[in-house]
Amino acid sequence: MKVVFLRDNTQLNAEFDPDRRTLQIDRSEHAEITTNSNCLVPGLIDSHCHGVDGMDVMEGKAKQIGANLRSRGIEYYCPTTVTAKWSEIRHALEPCKDRFPGFAGVHLEGPFINPNRSGAQPSDQIEQPDYQKLANELGELLDLVKIVTLAPELNGSRQLISELRNRRIAVSAGHTDATSKQLHEHKIDRITHFYNAMRPFHHRDPGPIGYGLTENVTLEIIYDRIHVSAEALQIALRCQQENGCVIAVSDGTALSGQPDGTACEMWGHRVSMRQGAVRLENGTLAGSAATLADVFRNIWQDEGPSAAVEACSEAPRKALGLPEPRLWLLVDAEGNIIKVFEMDLAIS
Ligand SMILES: [Zn+2]
Repeated sequence: MKVVFLRDNTQLNAEFDPDRRTLQIDRSEHAEITTNSNCLVPGLIDSHCHGVDGMDVMEGKAKQIGANLRSRGIEYYCPTTVTAKWSEIRHALEPCKDRFPGFAGVHLEGPFINPNRSGAQPSDQIEQPDYQKLANELGELLDLVKIVTLAPELNGSRQLISELRNRRIAVSAGHTDATSKQLHEHKIDRITHFYNAMRPFHHRDPGPIGYGLTENVTLEIIYDRIHVSAEALQIALRCQQENGCVIAVSDGTALSGQPDGTACEMWGHRVSMRQGAVRLENGTLAGSAATLADVFRNIWQDEGPSAAVEACSEAPRKALGLPEPRLWLLVDAEGNIIKVFEMDLAIS
């Protein structure tokens, strides 16, 4: 089958044979994507995902969530927790011990966040940064953690940040009221759901947004077309095209993949999905109703195929140090994933 193969910011014509598991690439010229094109792209990687199809990581369902995501083209994901009792966080991490296929390390979102920027995170379980407490409460489960979202301006964060970095756990500033000076002091190089749940931008007080747009930083962006506008995505992509990178995430929840109008109990709140957004009763956004496959299609349509592959696959794969793809996606000209193949592909 003729396909347009997209990797590393190039588009090339190729012949894909799924039975023989081969891909023969024609490297002579840049390929055009037309209305009838089939495109072949590497599997997607979601660094921030709480759930899908009625399941939440906090319910101890990380493994089943991984399987459902995989069938949608998400090759790896970071099961993401919320601010909760330590026993609940341990319950969420337990199934990750067997490092199931598609497990890319746990993302702890909280509990060391700023109560003034908690969004939908349960604020009664927020804690002061304390590495010793984290290490005692999680024990060997801490080995499963790859990313911690925290507010670096809180007392005690200095030691926490340095201990996490010693353990090669990425520190991501989020749910934060930090000034840009504080972010500089802590040498922050990753920001959680950029633009959302943080001190807003002011030209005399640029905060995390000014910092993230001018420094060499990895920015998570929830591009469900609700959390962030098209212009805001464009600004981040333009500012980070030289040094840092933009990583698309879903921040998906149990309501991702469910029909509009669905309601449920989540993280101690009553939440419902309306017009594609998950909200608390007071209107606060509570994660998203998207999967990374939706985010991928949105970026494909708004910023182009190469930007979508970069933000949803290449950049997060590199950031998390993941192996070469084994999941390959057949995508139509509109960015919809038509088929998912799991195979070692011989590329020539
Ligand atoms: Zn989240």
